[in-house]
Amino acid sequence: MKTYIIAIDGPAGAGKSTVCSDVAKELGILHLDTGATYRTLALGLLREGVDVTNEKEVTSVLDKIEISIDFVGGKQLMYLNGEDVTSLIRTNEISQAASASSVIGSVREKLVQLQRDTAKKLSMIVDGRDVGTCVFPDAQYKFYLTADTRERARRRAKQLLEQGIECDFDELVAEIEERDHRDMNRPISPLRRAEDAILIDCTDMTQQEVVQTLLRSVKVE
Ligand code: C5P
Repeated sequence: MKTYIIAIDGPAGAGKSTVCSDVAKELGILHLDTGATYRTLALGLLREGVDVTNEKEVTSVLDKIEISIDFVGGKQLMYLNGEDVTSLIRTNEISQAASASSVIGSVREKLVQLQRDTAKKLSMIVDGRDVGTCVFPDAQYKFYLTADTRERARRRAKQLLEQGIECDFDELVAEIEERDHRDMNRPISPLRRAEDAILIDCTDMTQQEVVQTLLRSVKVE
């Protein structure tokens, strides 16, 4: 069977991760969360003590930060210099640091290479901000998943709460808006819908409805 890539892009909190893991299970393929690579690198930068917005400082330590990905029982594990940091990269501090450092060209170059290498020989569903436009422009299937900002903040708050992380709702809305603005307006690979991506606005859809919409559009040979 031919391998294929399903690319899913969209803003923070649209539910890409959960939808992707359900679709991956249904199709028996792996789910690659590219945001986790930006988060892992951001943790590495914070540990190096550099200013994550300073291109020169960030670029100078990139070679010291080794990131690798492993899949165990379908779950994506993230390693930073050999340490499993999967459970350490979901805080708001890391979200902000990942968003800030992801505008830097050398960061994107390093991580896009890692993402392409990871999905080289396998069928995968890959989610992020630039998957259909930059990482895998030839992906067989492309979707752009979005939802109303407050609804996305509600979903993110629920997700954080499930992990035992409390947050202020209005602060979360402001952070999401700030991240959206930065992701959509950066000069390199800004977040936008690829021309050939199917747009799904899931504000009033259940997770299961989104999963079914995706599965109906994916015709695996
Ligand atoms: O998807 P997630 O919220 O985990 O991503 C964290 C940050 O990483 C995003 O706000 C975005 O700035 C960056 N990112 C990116 N390109 C991707 C995936 C994530 O710039 N493909």
